Amino acid sequence: MADKYDVFDQLGELENTLNTTLTQISGIRQVLEASMTENATLRMELEKLRDRLAEFEKKEVKKETPKDQPNPNLIQIFNEGFHVCHLHYAERLAEGESCLDCLELLYR
Ligand SMILES: [Zn+2]
Repeated sequence: MADKYDVFDQLGELENTLNTTLTQISGIRQVLEASMTENATLRMELEKLRDRLAEFEKKEVKKETPKDQPNPNLIQIFNEGFHVCHLHYAERLAEGESCLDCLELLYR
C-alpha cells in the first residue's frame, strides 16, 4: 500500500502534466486556426487574382465568358466553414451558421 503522501505527490504530478498538455493543445489549436484562416484568405485572394486575370484575358481576346455564375472555389471555401463576404472576410463560420452576405455574394 502506497503512502498517502506519495499518492498526493503522484496526483500533483499528474495534474501538472495534464495542465501542460492542455496548454499545448490550446496552443496547437490556435496555430491550426490561424493557419486555416490564412489558407482561406490566400485562396480567396487567389480567386480575386484569377478573376482579374480572366477579365484581362477577356479583353485581350475579346471573348465573352459567362459571368453571373457562382464561383465554385469560393463555394467550396464557404462550405468548408469560412466567410467569403467582405464583412467577415475569411473568418470561421460557427457550427451550423450561415451568412446572408456570403450567400448574396456567391449567388447574386
Ligand atoms: Zn459572411
